[in-house]
Amino acid sequence: MNLKGIGASRGIAIAKVFELKHYDIKVEKKSITNIDLEINKLNNAINLAVEQIEKIKSIASKNLDAEHAAVFDAHIQVATDPMLKDEMVNIIRDENVVAEFAVEEVSKKYVDMFSSMEDEYMKERAADIKDVSQKIIFNLLGIVKEDLTTINEEVIIVGVDLTPSETSQLNKKYVKGFATDIGGRTSHSAIMARSLEIPAVLGIGNITEKVESGDIIAINGSTGEVFINPSKEVIAKLEKEILEEEKLKKLLETFKNKPSVSKDGHHIEIAGNIGSPQDVSGVLNASGDAVGLFRSEFLYMDSQDWPNEEDQYKAYKEVLSKMNGRKVIIRTLDIGGDKTLKYFKFPQEMNPFLGYRAIRFCLDRKDVFKTQLRALIRASEFGKLGIMFPMIATIDEFKNAKAFFDEVYQEVKKEYPNISNQIEVGMMVEIPAAAVNCENFCKYADFVSIGTNDLIQYSMAADRMSEKVSYLYQPLNPSILRLIKMTIDGAHKQNKWVGMCGEMAGDLQAIPILLGLGLDEFSMSASSILQARELVSRINYKDAQELANRCLNADNEEEVIKILKSDLKW
Ligand code: PEP
Ligand code: MG
Repeated sequence: MNLKGIGASRGIAIAKVFELKHYDIKVEKKSITNIDLEINKLNNAINLAVEQIEKIKSIASKNLDAEHAAVFDAHIQVATDPMLKDEMVNIIRDENVVAEFAVEEVSKKYVDMFSSMEDEYMKERAADIKDVSQKIIFNLLGIVKEDLTTINEEVIIVGVDLTPSETSQLNKKYVKGFATDIGGRTSHSAIMARSLEIPAVLGIGNITEKVESGDIIAINGSTGEVFINPSKEVIAKLEKEILEEEKLKKLLETFKNKPSVSKDGHHIEIAGNIGSPQDVSGVLNASGDAVGLFRSEFLYMDSQDWPNEEDQYKAYKEVLSKMNGRKVIIRTLDIGGDKTLKYFKFPQEMNPFLGYRAIRFCLDRKDVFKTQLRALIRASEFGKLGIMFPMIATIDEFKNAKAFFDEVYQEVKKEYPNISNQIEVGMMVEIPAAAVNCENFCKYADFVSIGTNDLIQYSMAADRMSEKVSYLYQPLNPSILRLIKMTIDGAHKQNKWVGMCGEMAGDLQAIPILLGLGLDEFSMSASSILQARELVSRINYKDAQELANRCLNADNEEEVIKILKSDLKW
C-alpha cells in the first residue's frame, strides 16, 4: 500500500517500523487541599524538566549543528521563564487545582497564541512550548517516556508527531528515517531531520493507523511517498535509487570548498538565497561562495509591527558575521503583491503585482525605508555588504533610491565611523523595462541581479500564482533567454557584474545556457549549490556559449529542451 505525505528531508530509507507510543493524556481539573505542597511539586517537575533538557541538549550538540542544537537553549528559557511559572502558581493558588492543570492552562494559552499567527514559522514555535510543558506534565504524573537513544537496530520511527527533543536524540546509525501523521516542511522536526540528514516524510495523516511495529516500510523524503510492506520489485527499485543517491552525495562532497569553475577555467560565483539569519548555515554547509539574495521582507512578515532599526541591524550583522568576509547581497524591502503585513493595510488594487509594492512603496514611505537603510549601513562594518533595490522600472527610480541611500549613509557615517565605505548598491532586474535598457541603468548601479520569478511573469503577462496560466511560465523560452542576454550584455558593457537570484539560477537545465550567456553569479537555494558546482565543472565555457547561441535562435521552449537533450555531453 502506498501513502503520500510531505517530503520534509530528502533521502530514501527502507527498514522495520518502530512505533512511537502516543500519549493522549487528558489532564483533569482536580482540587487540592495543600497549596504549598502543590507549588513544591511544580517546582520539582520544572527542575527535573530543565535537567532532562540539559541532557538532551548535550546529546543534540553531538548530533546537530550548533544552530539547531540551540533550540534547547530556547526550551530551557521557556522552562525557567519566571512569568510563565508565576501564571501557573497563580492558577494553583486561585483555583485550588493540581499543578498539571495549571501547566496545561498556561501552555494552552501560549500555544493558541502562536498557532493563530499567520506566519508558518511562528506557528511552529507553538511546538516548543508544547514540548516543554509536556515534559513538566509527564514529570508531575510520573510518566517516563521511552528512551529513543537506546534503539539498537535499524528502524524507521512512525508516530503521530515527533517533538524537537525526540528528533534531536535520534542516532543516525540505527534510525534510518521517520514518518509522522502531522507536521510540515517548516516544523522543527523537519528542520532537524534535514540538519541530521535523516530522510523524513511528515503530514501523512494516518500512518500510525496503517502500520504496526515490525512492518517493513520504505519512505522517500524527496517525493513524500511511503510504501508499507513493499513488494520485492519496489524494494529493488528503491535500493537502486539509494545507491545512486549515495554515489551522488559522495561525489558532491568532493565539491565542497572548491572554486566554482568551468572545465576550461571560466570562474563564476555560486551563491545561496536566504530568508533569515538561520538559513546561513545551509549556505555555509554547502560552501556557497556568497549570499546572493537575502529576502529581507521576512523580517517584516514575521513581525507584529514595523521592525525597528536595532532588530534589523542585529539580523543583518548576524548574516554578515557568519559569512565571514564572503559577499552578502541584501535586498531592501520587497513587500506588496502576494507578500502582505499584519500591521499595514495595502490599498485595494485590481492588480497588486503591478501596483504599490517594493521600491515603489519604499520611495513613498521614506520613514520605513530609512530605518532599513540605517540598519543595513550600520551592519556593513561586519562584512562585505551589497544592497539591491527590488522592482526597479526606471532609471529615475534607481537614482532616487540611490540618492536617498547616499543621504542616509552620510548621516550614519557621522554616528558610526567604522562603517564600510565599499557597500555596493545594485538593483534587481525583474521588469522587462529594466532588462532591455540594462546598459543605461548600469551607468548608476554597481551590479544587477536578475529576478526571473518576476521577470517571466511580467514578460509573459502570466501571473506566477495562477495554476491556469502556469504553462506560460517558461524560463527556457527564447524570448526570456534573449531578455537575459540583453541584461548581461548591457551590464558587461558598463563593466558591472550580473547575478541571477530567481529560481532559474538553480535549474540544472538552465545552468549551461546561463553560463554560456555570461552570467557571473548564480544564487539559488542552498541545497542546489553543490550540484550546480559539479555540473559547471563538467562544462566547457566555449561549448556553453555555442549552446546558448543555438538556444537563442530556437522557435520555442520545447526546441530549447530538445537542443539541451541532444547535447549529451552534460
Ligand atoms: C524574483 O522575482 O525572481 C525574485 C528573486 O524575487 P521574489 O521571488 O522574492 O519575488
Ligand atoms: Mg521578485
